[in-house]
Amino acid sequence: MNVLVLNSGSSSFKFQIIATDLEKIKRDTDDRICRGEVEGIGGEAIIHFRRRDDAIQTFTAPVRDVTAALDYLVRYIVSDRSGVTEIRSTADLHAVGHRVVHGGELFSESARIDDRVLKGIEDCIDLAPLHNPNNVKGIVAAQELLGKDVPQVAVFDTSFHHSIPAQAYLYAIPYHLYRRYRIRRYGFHGTSHRYVAFRYRAIRGLSREQTNIITLHLGNGCSAAAIQAGSPVDTSMGMTPLEGLVMGTRSGDLDPAIVGFIARKEGLSASEVDSLLNTQSGLLGVSGLTNDMRELQAEMKEHDDRRVRLAVEIFCYRAKKYVGAYLAAMGGADAVVFTGGIGENSPDIRTRICEGMEWAGLRVDEKRNREAIGRESVISTEDSKLLAYAIPTDEELLIARDTVRVIMGVPHPS
Ligand code: ADP
Repeated sequence: MNVLVLNSGSSSFKFQIIATDLEKIKRDTDDRICRGEVEGIGGEAIIHFRRRDDAIQTFTAPVRDVTAALDYLVRYIVSDRSGVTEIRSTADLHAVGHRVVHGGELFSESARIDDRVLKGIEDCIDLAPLHNPNNVKGIVAAQELLGKDVPQVAVFDTSFHHSIPAQAYLYAIPYHLYRRYRIRRYGFHGTSHRYVAFRYRAIRGLSREQTNIITLHLGNGCSAAAIQAGSPVDTSMGMTPLEGLVMGTRSGDLDPAIVGFIARKEGLSASEVDSLLNTQSGLLGVSGLTNDMRELQAEMKEHDDRRVRLAVEIFCYRAKKYVGAYLAAMGGADAVVFTGGIGENSPDIRTRICEGMEWAGLRVDEKRNREAIGRESVISTEDSKLLAYAIPTDEELLIARDTVRVIMGVPHPS
């Protein structure tokens, strides 16, 4: 089954086409046919396209909206120019899997999209006004282009976290606000946490029930999850992706009184402060330079800029604090798993986060750590009681696999 995986943003989307089915899932032989990104939708869009491991091809095309962009992309893929021999017409696209950011309390697992599910995703727009409308647009575009007979599946960023108990998902605010507006912790990056938890137990030959780990997804967005017996019991992102760890441009945790204080002092509205905390804070806000960890680390090597150093130190300290908190919440864990652009590729950040965790039985093996760049590897010493792993995430693969499983009516294993 050729599954088109779509991750729709406001003026861009990422895509992959993955050939998979139940047999391929079992044998781990899914085949990534092509992938890429379309940016700048609404004007002269830039399309980055990569077939298997070929070099990236980049070209531009004027596209007015997501439907036009998807139409353009699919025409390109089926044409001889793309070199994709497996997809000769739209009939060779058998299903679509969508990353959907917010499933609220409605969706505890991936769901085949019909009118009821689409309405449910729309109902969650209130909770994710920046994200869910784009996901809806992506779904409608794919329906228009491929027809309603091609099955589409929604895979939610929130659904893995449905196991989190009330003591961890409720905020200590008047309870009627939870009942009235569904204000609670939902958590995000669920597909990534779920994927690396799955890989961890595959690497170690463990069952789901034996999986007691803390996963750290450190990318542009960052979140931690405490996973006990295979299911999350807590996670750092909240009702929105703003809470928790320090991120590229998001503040993560802060005293909620600061919001009103900034609003009064700077003459900003609530939504302007919200935007400041989401887009101008985090690594960017502290360093005053960039949200990009790689650039910050290069800068630290070249000049010892205090704010750059502080940005990195605050980032690592916050992550370490969450590891400690989750060890307490879970009564100990077997491993800490690093993933996301930073978690997968930066030995230095992993060392900083694990430093001083010997009390918990965690010691980083520096040789293993330095060599573990963009690949699955244990990075703790042989005698560590609390292990550490680097495991690259693959949300698209899990979305494609869920799409197949939902269509075939097979319950997903995690
Ligand atoms: P997204 O959350 O948008 O998917 P990624 O998971 O790709 O983003 O993570 C992007 C972050 O990963 C950026 O801060 C980038 O600088 C960082 N990153 C990527 N490679 C490295 C590296 N080798 N060293 C440090 N940081 C890195």
